[in-house]
Amino acid sequence: MSPRHLVLTGFMGAGKSTLGPVVARRLGRAFVDIDESIATTAGRSVAEIFAADGEGAFRRLEAAALRAALSTTEPAVIAVGGGALVDDELRAEALARGRVVLLTARDETLVDRTRDTSRPLLHGPDAARRVAELLRARRPAYAHAHARVSTEGVSVEESALAVERAARDDAVAVLLGERSYSIRITDRAPPVVTDLVASLHPSSVHVLTDANVGPLHAAPVVEALMARGPFSVTKVSLAAGEEHKRLAGVEAFLEHAVRAGADRETLVVGVGGGVVTDMAGLAASLLLRGVRWIAVPTTLLAMVDASIGGKTGVDLGASKNAVGTFHQPSAVVAAIEAVETQSRRDYASGLAEVVKTAAVADGAFLASIERERTAIVERRADAVRAVVTGCATLKASIVMRDEREGGLRAVLNFGHTLGHALEAAGGWRRWTHGEAVALGMVAALRVGERLGVTPPSSAQRLIELLRGLGLPVELDRSAVEEALPLVGMDKKRAGGRVRFVLMSDAGAAVLHPLSLPELAHLLRD
Ligand code: NAD
Repeated sequence: MSPRHLVLTGFMGAGKSTLGPVVARRLGRAFVDIDESIATTAGRSVAEIFAADGEGAFRRLEAAALRAALSTTEPAVIAVGGGALVDDELRAEALARGRVVLLTARDETLVDRTRDTSRPLLHGPDAARRVAELLRARRPAYAHAHARVSTEGVSVEESALAVERAARDDAVAVLLGERSYSIRITDRAPPVVTDLVASLHPSSVHVLTDANVGPLHAAPVVEALMARGPFSVTKVSLAAGEEHKRLAGVEAFLEHAVRAGADRETLVVGVGGGVVTDMAGLAASLLLRGVRWIAVPTTLLAMVDASIGGKTGVDLGASKNAVGTFHQPSAVVAAIEAVETQSRRDYASGLAEVVKTAAVADGAFLASIERERTAIVERRADAVRAVVTGCATLKASIVMRDEREGGLRAVLNFGHTLGHALEAAGGWRRWTHGEAVALGMVAALRVGERLGVTPPSSAQRLIELLRGLGLPVELDRSAVEEALPLVGMDKKRAGGRVRFVLMSDAGAAVLHPLSLPELAHLLRD
């Protein structure tokens, strides 16, 4: 259990005051209701403070009370009104010092629950419109929460259990204004996916998976979703593998969703590896010009990379990811137990993206991977969790600074320029994505050495790590020759030049523009 404070927030009527004491009792923690502590200190009710001094005065008292509660050392359960976290600074403090859980309910339910009370912000006959307006205004702030739990149509005990799950899991926030979301790192997917789906109050849920993942991991998720309702749930299972990452699969899924009555409140859930999450995100961005989606990655590769950051896509002809969109998910649920059923080869493939992320972004993380190599290769749960959390944190911080790959985010393409060309030249089957990226990284390290950018000792160190993790590091000349014509088709090209990524030191990278003939010459070398 996380030792941090648990901050329960949400709109008026979402259930903070009811749920707070129950959760506090279950966790054996003190319960602090910020509204109550303000009223006690001031000797007046919140409504009286609003009426006499105005909202501004109340917000100042609220901020002071929340800061005081957050600064205590003993972890508590703190209930605070949703309006408090609209303030950017205060929200950042709450996110840094506590696990922030947003309680949700449908608009109509919120209006019903607040009808008979003297809520100062909901006076008058127009409460429904006021609720809708306030919710719209607060949506960007609410999107920043670490986790969301619905209190709609379930008992207090069930909601309390969902809050406990949220408190126990690791969560990495991807802060992108209204498009913000959280990456939940948990043990088992079904209960957490159900909590999150319910908190988004969809009209219907359409699950996309593939033939391998369907029976193993998507079926229990679908079963749990159906038991939760009130939304309808359908599932589409596509053929597995990169060679099926095509528009045809996306089209089949879209046809199914439209036939099943998809509307603007429909939610797409992708349960699978990077192929499935890339296709689910693309389908969600196209369906009715864009509906919400959740990624439930089941491979290490998708947990550490593909499901994070909102890049979606499919391959076209021999061009990797040539058709795609940017469409951020509403949540990512990485359930560690899924890697246990991966083949050894596919698991190792994910380790290539782990090494890539560390190699371009964090030398200390890279060193920890070297140290924990055996535990990682043996898929010990703690080691896998640490790797997923580390990569998710690094990728989130890069995406937060450069969502649309204007510059910085491009360093995550380390090893991908040649890697993508190798994948295509191998007919999408000869190498897995991760294997091709590993070989692409080795080539990029050698190019970097040649250009005097990559220190030879750092290059050698990375190659040894890749080898130790079970990844290929030897590339024969004929494979390079076959791949070279396809390098020019890569999206990382601009103005006839490729933004080639070089490792400048362990944990740091630079973009090095090269013309195609220059790059071909260096790669042949
Ligand atoms: P994948 O989705 O093809 O999965 C690999 C294989 O493992 C498939 O056969 C799949 O059915 C099976 N599988 C998945 N989960 C399993 C499990 N838990 N147990 C047993 N079998 C399981 O491939 P991948 O390696 O997960 O992802 C590669 C894809 O990710 C590539 O298409 C790549 O382009 C994409 N990618 C996207 C991004 C991005 O930012 N969008 C980043 C990196 C990679």
